[in-house]
Order: sequence, then structure tokens, then C-alpha cells
Amino acid sequence: MVEDGFELRLALMEWLAAQVAARGPLESARLETFTYRGERLRLIDQHGIWAPKGFHCALTIRTTFTPPNQIPPYVDREGEDGLDFYKYEGTDPNLATNRKLRACIETGLPLIWLRGVAMGVYLPDFPVYVVEDHPANLEVALEVRSWQSVPILGEEPSELSPERRWGVALTRTRLHQRVFHERVLHAYQGSCSICRLRHRELLDAAHIIPDSQSGGEAIVPNGLTLCKLHHAAYDANLLGITPDYRIKVREEILREEDGPMLLHGLKEVHGSKLAVVPRERKAKPDPERLAQRFQHFLGLT
Ligand SMILES: [Zn+2]
Repeated sequence: MVEDGFELRLALMEWLAAQVAARGPLESARLETFTYRGERLRLIDQHGIWAPKGFHCALTIRTTFTPPNQIPPYVDREGEDGLDFYKYEGTDPNLATNRKLRACIETGLPLIWLRGVAMGVYLPDFPVYVVEDHPANLEVALEVRSWQSVPILGEEPSELSPERRWGVALTRTRLHQRVFHERVLHAYQGSCSICRLRHRELLDAAHIIPDSQSGGEAIVPNGLTLCKLHHAAYDANLLGITPDYRIKVREEILREEDGPMLLHGLKEVHGSKLAVVPRERKAKPDPERLAQRFQHFLGLT
């Protein structure tokens, strides 16, 4: 049986960081492939709160995917002080899962929060600390720290304080933007909507309506997967997208003579339709938002 503790959880976080860096969010099947000291350890089961056999504290919590036209539920339960809230399983605070979730407060052991970005696909957040119990509301308060600084390779975990190792708290904005990024990329099957480019490193989740404006929510219908070139061109109004998904390039650009990037990257996409849009209706770019943004492209707003 795997022995729980700081070492195990650190190894798990390092594994998750490497997995996400290499291949993006994790499908359920990949969440079954973590091994520690030769033993396989599942990271989810059918419950939202998961503590493997023999564990005194929960190891992971899970939020399942919400359809792309809805705001993820965790946004609703963000406390004034930046904490997140996570519901107990059911209504009995003494269920084993709920007890094991609360046990994290005393031990201070970090857990992993698996957030659904598509059906059966999860983006892990870690380390997450359970900091308060609210039995009257059937929930606990969570503090989500940065994962960007995990891991510091080549240093012994025991030599580092948790604060030093995990660095500064991630701001709420960055957290939500990352979930948005993964959801949008997933909806477009990892391809630029205009040119089909598939290199993750060169892809962005672009907002149709900027997040500073009303209607600019971080939801999939307000997003487009665009490569760096097309994202920058869209944001600079060098190209626009009509509500029926047609690409329009600025007149000046069409008249300009330059190298192959301008020719193939911009001039040749003029008049064509978006090459990739999500299959699912609710995930498709919202025509109303596109219309509003297209007015801006035309210089009318
Ligand atoms: Zn592109």
C-alpha cells in the first residue's frame, strides 16, 4: 500500500506538472497511470473527493465539466478574501470522504484540484490547501497556490519550506484564464480556427469581446483558438470575422506586397470561412459577439 505524506504528494505534483507541460490537460485514463515507488495510484474514482485506500486525508477533489455556455460553478463560490469553496459530498458531514477532506486542515497536506475542462478531461490545480471548515454550509474553504513554481528540480524537498517551494499565490484572474485557455483549445481540437496550425506553443485562446468589456466573459462561445499571428492580427484589427464566420482582411493589407507570411498568412485567408469551429453547437463562436466585434473592426465603434 502506498504511504501518504508530503513526499508522495510532492512526487505527484511533479508528475502532474510534467504531464500537463508535455501533453496538456489529462484525460481520465491518464489519471490512472501515476506510480509512486513502484505502485500505481489512481487519482480519481466516482466520488468528487478521493482518498486512496489507507489514506487519512483526501488526495484529490474534482469539479466536473460544465457546458461551455455556462460560467463554471466555482466562479459563483469565490469568497471575498480570494478563497474558493468546495461542497461536501452529500449532506452528511460525517461521511468518510468529508472527514478526509477536513483532515487536510490539521495535517496541512496539500491536495490536487482536478477541474473539468471537457467531458472526462481535467486540468489539475495544485497545491490546494483546505483552510477552513464550514459545516453549516456543507463546504470547506480552499486556498489555491501557484503551480508555476512547481517543481524546483534538483533540490531536495526537505530543504525547502512549502512557501519557498510553491511561491506566490496565483491570482484569481490567471487561474480563470488558464481554465479558459484549455477549454477553448479543447473545443477547437487544438487547431487555429483560421489556418489549422496545431502547435500548442503557438496557439492562444483569443477573446472575441475583450474581458474588460461587458460580454467579455471567459466562456468558450466568447473564445477562438488562434495562432499567434492570427491572434495578433485579430486584436490589431488587421482582420475581422463576420457573424457567419467569414474572414475579412483590411484593404491596405490586401494591397500590400511583402513576403510569404503576408501572402499566405493574411492575404490568402481573406474571404474564406473559419477553417475550424467546434462541433458542439453551444461551443461555437457566438454570432452576436462576433457581430459586435466586427463593428469594431469596421471602425464603427
Ligand atoms: Zn493561424
